[in-house]
Amino acid sequence: MKKDADVIIIGAGLAGLTAAKVLKNAGKSVLIIEAADAIGGRVRTDKVNGFLLDRGFQVLLTAYPETKKFLNYEALDLRSFDPGALILNEKGISKIGDPMRQPTSLISTLLSPAGTFLDKLKMFRLKVKLSGKTVESIFLEKEMTTLNYLENEGLSKLMISQFFNPFMSGIFLETALSTSSRMFEFVFKMFGEGKAAIPSKGMGMIPLQLAEGLSQKEILLNQSVSSVEGASVTTTTGSTYHADFVLIATDQLNLPSPYKKDVKKYHSVTNIYFNAERKPFTAPLIALNTLPNRLVNNIAVMNQIAPDYSSNGEALISVSLIGDHSQPNAAELQVKVIAEIKFWYPDAVNWKHLKTYHINYALPNDDQVINEINTQTVKLNDQCFICGDYLLNGSINSAMKSGRIAAEAILSL
Ligand SMILES: Cc1cc2nc3c(=O)[nH]c(=O)nc-3n(C[C@H](O)[C@H](O)[C@H](O)COP(=O)(O)OP(=O)(O)OC[C@H]3O[C@@H](n4cnc5c(N)ncnc54)[C@H](O)[C@@H]3O)c2cc1C
Repeated sequence: MKKDADVIIIGAGLAGLTAAKVLKNAGKSVLIIEAADAIGGRVRTDKVNGFLLDRGFQVLLTAYPETKKFLNYEALDLRSFDPGALILNEKGISKIGDPMRQPTSLISTLLSPAGTFLDKLKMFRLKVKLSGKTVESIFLEKEMTTLNYLENEGLSKLMISQFFNPFMSGIFLETALSTSSRMFEFVFKMFGEGKAAIPSKGMGMIPLQLAEGLSQKEILLNQSVSSVEGASVTTTTGSTYHADFVLIATDQLNLPSPYKKDVKKYHSVTNIYFNAERKPFTAPLIALNTLPNRLVNNIAVMNQIAPDYSSNGEALISVSLIGDHSQPNAAELQVKVIAEIKFWYPDAVNWKHLKTYHINYALPNDDQVINEINTQTVKLNDQCFICGDYLLNGSINSAMKSGRIAAEAILSL
């Protein structure tokens, strides 16, 4: 049987692309089979009417250990958010910063109604505590929900509702803060030690950079793998490909047969883009809606952070809503979203709708997470291996880490 490559990789998300890079660097030939019309998986950027639209608002935390290994940050031309956030509540807009990194934000942070003075000291103490902890030790801690963790840290209900809930909901993509406290510690540490950044030309530049060493004939697009048998794979159109090893790098919902799983809990998000003549705010911050029964979770002015996101200089506004809002209909959703935002930004009634992304599977359930897997965990049998963020936790860091470890497992044979 003629083989098509040393290793067939199913899925061209960050996990599959990282694995491909490691395997190729070690001299192995690869064939990536990807169901979608482009590489990137959950990290893609579309060009619409001269605007760059990331498929779902997301950021690269530059302190991530794994992205530091594999990405050339300078070539990505990263642009970063300032630490902190704008707090939108029933009284209006205030600002919370990180005075340790931006001394000029000290006064506004202390005066912000998001939490008491004591809360702000506790937040500072938490940051110091986490900077003294290694990532490894964080993932060995006993797990509890993030909400319980914050309460145990002595943070007030006010501070949790006015800052931590909307901020972490936007990252965990769930509002109950049921996500593991390990994930909270990890993410909060990463925010404290690096920047929250986007490449100047969109998050989609990350997978493109990972794929730089791959030729077109090494990536088959628009081909969905339905089953794996030994080291052969079959696509839904009936083509079969052979290799020495197969690496399954799909998301958790789309594992090919016979490895399919019934996954019940995961997190969805809705991302609506608008363009407007004027930017609603010019601080390089994310705005957090802290109202109790909110629809909108956060707002970001993308071209304030990275000007190339808008080719004509008009404001590109990203609005994120946690969960699935695909029903009942898009027009109704937009009306409700604008009605909520116009309290703080009255000009929202003039914003023009660009595109809405309903992302059903955005993050795996992260109620229990780990950060270590070994070459045995990623081995399904002697010929078939597996990787993907969900094996560890939902993040760019773990997608890439899982891809690296799976590639190393194959190379160790
Ligand atoms: C809206 C949103 C916001 C996020 N925010 C952040 C953030 O701020 N920071 C952060 O670190 N992480 C964030 N994440 C998570 C991060 O993007 C993911 O953890 C990571 O991209 C997952 O990569 P992956 O390779 O494991 O999976 P995927 O990206 O899902 O890749 C799997 C690939 O396999 C393909 N595939 C599936 N089935 C088949 C098949 N049968 N045959 C062939 N191909 C198949 C898919 O098309 C896809 O390309 C966010 C994710 C989303 C969606």
